[in-house]
Amino acid sequence: MALVLAGLVSATAADDGSTATGVVVHNGAVFTVLEERSDGWVVATPCRTEIFLDEGVRFYTADVVLDPGHGGPETGSVGANGLVERDVNLWVALLTRAELEALGYSVVLTREVDLHMGIVQRANVANALSPSGFVSIHHNGGAVRHSHEPGTETFHQYGDDESRRLAGLLFEEVQAALATWDVRWVDTVHKGTSARIRSDNTDVYGVLRLTPDLPSAIVEAAYLSNAPEAELLADPEVLIAEAAAIARAVDRFLTSGDPGSGFKRAFVDAATTGTGTGWNCDDSGYGHSVSVASGYTEQEYADLVAMAARVGRSPESLQRFGVYALDFFHALGGRVSLDPFPPEVIPVVSGSSVPVDVTLPWTPADQVLLTRVADAYGLSPAEAQKVGAVLMVFLIGISG
Ligand SMILES: [Zn+2]
Repeated sequence: MALVLAGLVSATAADDGSTATGVVVHNGAVFTVLEERSDGWVVATPCRTEIFLDEGVRFYTADVVLDPGHGGPETGSVGANGLVERDVNLWVALLTRAELEALGYSVVLTREVDLHMGIVQRANVANALSPSGFVSIHHNGGAVRHSHEPGTETFHQYGDDESRRLAGLLFEEVQAALATWDVRWVDTVHKGTSARIRSDNTDVYGVLRLTPDLPSAIVEAAYLSNAPEAELLADPEVLIAEAAAIARAVDRFLTSGDPGSGFKRAFVDAATTGTGTGWNCDDSGYGHSVSVASGYTEQEYADLVAMAARVGRSPESLQRFGVYALDFFHALGGRVSLDPFPPEVIPVVSGSSVPVDVTLPWTPADQVLLTRVADAYGLSPAEAQKVGAVLMVFLIGISG
């Protein structure tokens, strides 16, 4: 039964990002803060797993958020010279941040290293920081039509004037910067500034659709799929020029009323499904496990071992199932009134009379559950763990 309970609880536990405020940056990954605690934060990882994190740099807001598109197994376009879009996007984003910081802006990236991250979490990072501008940086693929000038494409949020102005300035600056080089460019009919929408007038791109309160835009600079342009993107000078252009566009957006240029009509694109679903996203390496020790009397420990043996589990895992069960009962609290435990029934978890320690390593994801259960019942984590064990001994006992 505990397994069933655990499955039910974990399937419903991770869906509330609405109160997110700010982020923590740690080892180049960016975590949205779901809950502030005295000893750290409950956060969502780039793969949207809820974990407990106790180290990193806290940001409550930022002037600008930059999103280096793709990452990890989602490579984006790949050049004939081996250049991969996810890397080029990151290099340009890092260079753009440096340019913007030199102009006095605070900047946060959705990722500072190569990692897997879905579209929803990229939008969550931007929304959590309430920036004055959000730019997703990409490089294009697919076009074959020869052009005498770069095929820069920028996309804005449908029906949003500020987003449209931001995209127009990005097109204007990036197109002019790249045009300095004379190569065999390619383009499509979508060269310029436009909105790519579905038949119901919503934006195709999730980073635009999921950030309705921000001026957001996507820049697709140069075609990695076109060998001459891939060669160009292998030149650091070109990347620096592109980054400076993006920074100038953002600066003009924030300090002037300049309209931008390259505007085209919005177009319906029913075929584009896009990448960035975060499918199979696995970032279980973040955070670190902790051990929580709970003391038991000899009799309590003997009962725990006996009941664990009866169901073919370890005493440690029985404690964990018990905490999941407590979480399940707490989740029923809307219908069943559950008050904090009266002090007289809280088990003793420490002291000289306790001969046996049962310690259990709690993963960063499990720590979220343990602290939630402890808070809900007014217990310490060690007490909650032991109450869980006592509960399991009771449940297995009555099941015969
Ligand atoms: Zn891309």
